[in-house]
Amino acid sequence: NRVSLELLGKARELAGELGQDVSAFLLGDQVSGLCDTIMAYGADNVYLAEHKNLKEYRTIAYTDVVEKLVNEYKPNILLMGASQMGRDLAPRVSRRVGVGLTADCTELTVDPEERILLQTRPAFGGNVMATIANRYSRPQMATVRPGVMEALKRNGNKGKTIKHKVSLTEKEIGTKILELVREKRKGVSLGEAKLIVAAGRGVGSQTEMKPLFSLAKVMGGEVAGTRIIVEEGWLPVERQVGQTGQTVRPEIYIACGVSGAIQHRAGMMGSRYIIAINKDVRAPIFEVADWGIVGDLHEVVPAFIKALQDSTDK
Ligand code: FAD
Repeated sequence: NRVSLELLGKARELAGELGQDVSAFLLGDQVSGLCDTIMAYGADNVYLAEHKNLKEYRTIAYTDVVEKLVNEYKPNILLMGASQMGRDLAPRVSRRVGVGLTADCTELTVDPEERILLQTRPAFGGNVMATIANRYSRPQMATVRPGVMEALKRNGNKGKTIKHKVSLTEKEIGTKILELVREKRKGVSLGEAKLIVAAGRGVGSQTEMKPLFSLAKVMGGEVAGTRIIVEEGWLPVERQVGQTGQTVRPEIYIACGVSGAIQHRAGMMGSRYIIAINKDVRAPIFEVADWGIVGDLHEVVPAFIKALQDSTDK
């Protein structure tokens, strides 16, 4: 899962500040071929736990192995992706090893004095950003949603593979996978989009969404929206960006008629460049925008499209 590579990028940064190593754990059956990729993305060590009973994710099996790894190698910090699997595994491991867990962090830094992990995440319905630290127990555990951190390939990075012996019987695991049914992809992958045109309530109505789709088409991007847009039924839920939607990090994010509520910002702050079009000069989106256009989006968006078409015609 790509989120693991994203976490290696962040882990490298944290380890650099703490003067420690980055290690990854890799569980599965015949997965040693992935070690090189993991090292290329920043791991100094890969703890490899291979066993036929780890072929598919099963809660008890994975929890047992990760618990043993934690007890044996005693990491200072343990990060997991807030994927379906990570959301199941991380709380169980945290309970087993008796430490707290900060879920869905949007930022991880090191306190320069205490040298502990500062874990920031939205709290109280997303109205404040809370920073949580764990002074007394180890590992300091956090999960991060896909797309929040940046995966950084470090060419030529080499590391060590440390094989971890696993003994697991079917009886101990207690569950069997009878069938795997993969949900069909809904045809939109906002996480990988290089350009996103985001619609907010300022668009006005579903029919007025059309120019935003045209703009996305001309620029080769995707259309996304705020929660209000999804609640109104103008876009399907898989196109919602924010705390309760997708986290995105495109090169360009064009927010049209979006006020910039903290819950929306939680999903798009990793964008490289943010362009905001809003008719209210005091809209909070302008606080985070690289370029702001104060104006009516129904005039600005068609002007954008025309300028882009004119420049490609030339
Ligand atoms: P508004 O806040 O109503 O803003 C509309 C903007 O459009 C205004 O700034 C206005 O000036 C501008 N405008 C109006 N007409 C025009 C025009 N013609 N041209 C240009 N500008 C115009 N929201 C999310 O987006 N994602 C989430 O994941 C999310 N999760 C949430 C979770 C919780 C627990 C809670 C409590 C809220 C969550 N929200 C989320 C909702 C969030 O708080 C905001 O209500 C929402 O993001 C606002 O959406 P908006 O910007 O479309 O609408």
